[in-house]
Amino acid sequence: MKKIVVLFLFCSQLAIGSDGYWAKTGHRVVGEIAQEYINGKTKRALKELLGTASLAEVANFADEIKSDTLYRKFGAWHYVNYPLDKKYHEVTPSKWGDIVQAIETCKQKVSDKTLARTERSFYLKFLVHLIGDLHQPMHAGRAEDRGGNDIQLQWFDSGTNLHRVWDGDMINSYGMSFSELADRLSRLSRKEVRTLQQGSVIDWLEESHEIAGRIYGSVNTGEKLMFRYSYLWWPTVEDSLQKGGVRLAKVLNELF
Ligand SMILES: [Zn+2]
Repeated sequence: MKKIVVLFLFCSQLAIGSDGYWAKTGHRVVGEIAQEYINGKTKRALKELLGTASLAEVANFADEIKSDTLYRKFGAWHYVNYPLDKKYHEVTPSKWGDIVQAIETCKQKVSDKTLARTERSFYLKFLVHLIGDLHQPMHAGRAEDRGGNDIQLQWFDSGTNLHRVWDGDMINSYGMSFSELADRLSRLSRKEVRTLQQGSVIDWLEESHEIAGRIYGSVNTGEKLMFRYSYLWWPTVEDSLQKGGVRLAKVLNELF
């Protein structure tokens, strides 16, 4: 009975049609949750580098600059695709960079106080974005289908692909604002936060990669996805957003 009620509530919140990506709502949720778990010292450092902008506000910056050819070299920074039966360390790192290398670079640049404030701020905004991307499982998918981008699907009546379903179709259709979602997902005890913050960037990546493996098995090319798909996978979406948020806070607290 409970399940039926939940399903009903869920369906009533779904709206048909979307054109978004993890960018926008997803990234903002991650930023907003992180804001709850950063300490005073981190807050002061962020104010110095970001001014009055919140983490949610800067979380999409790295996607927004994508269309500018000047920033093309950062394209490979948002993901890393490798075989599902392999670990990141078993694969030769891309010379174009990948999300793991990028996070490391961002951390170094942000903590380098000899750099100009604008440069440190640029990499800080990038870092906020990348911790979000790291928790979108399809940013750690297979290379042959470009993290699900080449797996065509339908989301209700709109054409989409597996990557986009996870970037935004599910989140946008859920119909909650980023602050509503973040508010719900940031009610955690200290112990829960500590548990979620365990591990390294590589551990978190492998977690996403493992989830990506299951996501690949969840669809057939050309399939029409509707309420049932969201119902099955929404807990994973929320879990990933929540982890992204508390772990971003951890990365920032360690950095400052
Ligand atoms: Zn991105």
